[in-house]
Parts: sequence; structure tokens; C-alpha cells
Amino acid sequence: MDAHKLPAEEKALMTHDLLNSAYKRLRLENRREPMHELISTMLSHRTNHADEEKAYNTMLERFKDWEGVMNAPFEELADAIATTRYPGQKVPQIQETLRIIKEERGEINIDFLEHLPVEEAMKWLTKLPGVGPKTATLLLLFNFKKPVMPVDTHVFRISQRVGIIGAKVTANKAHDLLLDILPSDPVELYNFHIHMLRHGQRICTFYSPKCERCVLNSICNYYQDVRKKGIDKAA
Ligand code: SF4
Repeated sequence: MDAHKLPAEEKALMTHDLLNSAYKRLRLENRREPMHELISTMLSHRTNHADEEKAYNTMLERFKDWEGVMNAPFEELADAIATTRYPGQKVPQIQETLRIIKEERGEINIDFLEHLPVEEAMKWLTKLPGVGPKTATLLLLFNFKKPVMPVDTHVFRISQRVGIIGAKVTANKAHDLLLDILPSDPVELYNFHIHMLRHGQRICTFYSPKCERCVLNSICNYYQDVRKKGIDKAA
């Protein structure tokens, strides 16, 4: 059987193996403390990393701590995070999030998530304003080493092109499908996520993917059924 006609489960595991050999294996270590990660992820929406970091640092320099940020006047906080896109939408999201955490936990700290089962932690996080499944899974995997799979644009696009998920599958459903197939080990899930991200940035780009150089091309539906046959005029 042609490799690209293999079942989705086998393709997912082969993708993991092939990317493991193409990219450096990584250790799963906390990048930033959990509150930093949560608020930075909100700031990063449609914003590059340098501008997000600038906004984060300016905000904490001006308002000192999370209590200060929570109680800051709207215009002043919007000005502090003005290097990000849509600061006017982010101010109420951030302040409401801080208020909810304070009200529910008595302090602005989310370290308690470490001790919650995955489903409860996901439920708790996704009720915060501006926190969807992608942000919640990033936080739970990167900071608390929980076995979840953040489905960002790269994981989603490559999974669809290779044929691990179908064309009509939503990002939420893709999360469940990938989790069912991949090893339930946070280190493996982290490597799969980061390798897909790197591959999506360098090879399987949105426009003009570099299929001839891609380690996944023998199992990839898009390459075998479209690109190789010259059907894809846009590529
Ligand atoms: S073969 Fe092309 S479309 Fe398929 S994963 Fe590689 S770069 Fe993406």
C-alpha cells in the first residue's frame, strides 16, 4: 500500500517519528511562571513576540504587580500595552481574568492547576475571558506538564495536509483525535507540538509549502494527490 494511504493513526505516529529525526528533541521545561504565561498569551494575540514582551514589561513596571494591573484605569493600562494589537479589547480581558482568579482563589496565582485533573483544569481555564482551548492547552502542557495537545495553526494545517485529520475537522476535535493517537506522555506531546510548529514555519508554510524538501512527503495526501500531480496551481 502507498504510504500516504495508510490509516490516520499510523500517519500520526509516522509524522511524530519523522519529525523526531528531522528536528532536535527538546526537554520540557517551564518557560515562564504560570501567571506570566497566561497574561503573555493574551497579550500575544495577533502580536509578535518582541511587542508582546515589551507590553508585558511596561505593564508590570508601571503597575508593579497583578493587583496594580487589575485596578489600573482603562486608558493607562491600554497605553502600557499599546505595542500589542487591539489593546482596548485586551484590557477588559486581562482585568476580568485577574478579578476572577482573585475572587475564586483569594490571590492572583494559578499554581493550583498543577493539582487538578486535565479536564477540570481545562474547564476552569476556558471560562476565563479570552482563554480558548489553544491557550489553555499551551499553559497546561508548557507549565504544568499535563498530557494535552495545543492545536495551533501549524499543527492543524500539517495534520490536514498529511491526512491525519479530515478537511472538516475542527481544531477542538483535532485536539481529541491527536491525543487519542499520540503517546500520552507530556514530553512526546511537547516535542510533537514544537516540531510541527518549526516544520510549519520552515517547510510546510501556508503559501508554497516546500514539499520536495519535506520529510513527510511520502505519507502526505497533499503532496501525493495534489502537488506531485501538478493539480495545485496555487503552489
Ligand atoms: S509534503 Fe508538502 S504539504 Fe505535505 S507536509 Fe510536507 S510540506 Fe506540507
